[in-house]
Amino acid sequence: MAVMQYQPISPRRRPKGLTNAVWTANAAPAPQVDSLVGVHDVDVLVIGGGIAGMTTALHLAERNVDVALVEAGQFGDGATGQSGGIIAPDYIRHTPETIGEVLGEAAGERLTDMIGRSGAHVFDLIRQNEIECDMRQDGFYTPAHTEALAQQQRDMARQWQARGHRVSFVDGSQTRALFGTDRYCGALRFEDGGGLNPLAFVRGLAHVAIRRGAKLYANSPVRQLERKQGQWLCYTASGTLRARRVVLAANGGNAALHPAMRRTSLPLNVFQFASMPLDPAQRQVILPRGGAFTDKMPYLFTARLDGLGHLVSAFPMSYAVNGEKALYREAKRRLKQYFPAMPDPQIDYLWHGLAWVNTSFLPEIYDLGDDAIAIQACNGRGLATNTVIGSEVATMLATGDADALSVRPRAPVPVRFHAGASLLPRLLMSMAYLTN
Ligand SMILES: Cc1cc2nc3c(=O)[nH]c(=O)nc-3n(C[C@H](O)[C@H](O)[C@H](O)COP(=O)(O)OP(=O)(O)OC[C@H]3O[C@@H](n4cnc5c(N)ncnc54)[C@H](O)[C@@H]3O)c2cc1C
Repeated sequence: MAVMQYQPISPRRRPKGLTNAVWTANAAPAPQVDSLVGVHDVDVLVIGGGIAGMTTALHLAERNVDVALVEAGQFGDGATGQSGGIIAPDYIRHTPETIGEVLGEAAGERLTDMIGRSGAHVFDLIRQNEIECDMRQDGFYTPAHTEALAQQQRDMARQWQARGHRVSFVDGSQTRALFGTDRYCGALRFEDGGGLNPLAFVRGLAHVAIRRGAKLYANSPVRQLERKQGQWLCYTASGTLRARRVVLAANGGNAALHPAMRRTSLPLNVFQFASMPLDPAQRQVILPRGGAFTDKMPYLFTARLDGLGHLVSAFPMSYAVNGEKALYREAKRRLKQYFPAMPDPQIDYLWHGLAWVNTSFLPEIYDLGDDAIAIQACNGRGLATNTVIGSEVATMLATGDADALSVRPRAPVPVRFHAGASLLPRLLMSMAYLTN
């Protein structure tokens, strides 16, 4: 039995000066659903209404499985709606060749295939279901800040191409023309990547899931989950769900739902921000052909445009930048540092996000026994991969075919010295800030 410690960041507790995510400006409303009241029975219970949980519920309903999803707040309230909306079909740390050393050749190739096609999967899903979410399949780039990295990226392009993925290397002068910054000497281009409004995406999926027959509940934090007489019992303040099988898709919240999930991932706090819409002259030089990029610097830089012309970027939380004014100053400094066409950037939106990172930097599915599994695949880079994982988990649950999964389920392993390790991301980002 696990006792819930759910603590959402309410607007009142949000640090002063932070806004809602820019995505609230042009996302269609979520479906109006009730909170959980009374006692209900279902076959599969999904906990968490982010991208992982929502796609699991949607695809289960498509396969006529009796499924309910319970979300603590509103759909997309977690990392999904806080994210930068970049669709990035790439590894964070590994390459198609190095992953085999970690997972073994067959499992490595399987995961590479899933990650490589995750961008196309997302955009196809959006097209099939006609979801309005400002999608732009205009490429994802990882730019190189050194010649040595550019050289490695040439080889990575070869590795992806050899496996049939649409990945290429663009040289320094092309990168300058594509991004409007001269800080990079080349970039890896993933044709099937791009960007979208992540809040609109998950809300749109919620509408589709309901149409397919999934039962969705919002404003229903799960306070306790227990196994009794061969069933899962999930308690909220005003209701109970009884289910044969359960999927934990609560990201950082998974830790409080099942004892085996405690201390399995580390928090990474990030500030996302959006400039005021670029003027026409800036539009001609900054990402003039669209696209989104995330570099490989420790104090990473990322950029994309949304449909309203905001330049959306981010910086990790550190001990060096504190307080409302400093956060806005840092956002402006970063834009000025990268984009000469923005000598005096204005910041329209600045918000906080909490990503949960696995020490493997890989998407994980945990087998908790007793017909319970957990998806723990945020890593600050999970929009595309979690969309595929949701679909694969649904197939596995509907058909019983474990081969449907590109991520081999394993037992969760707690991070050693978790309390101390949880401080590491912010500490490392502080050091990275100082060398930036
Ligand atoms: C600031 C930031 C920027 C990012 N940018 C990108 C990006 O540009 N591209 C990219 O690919 N990835 C990005 N990511 C990562 C991406 O957002 C995540 O990988 C992905 O959204 C994770 O989806 P999820 O469904 O697993 O988790 P979440 O979206 O966090 O969903 C979990 C849900 O569970 C709910 N929940 C928690 N506890 C309970 C409970 N007890 N009962 C009921 N519900 C509960 C939460 O409210 C939440 O809605 C970013 C993340 C952050 C934080």
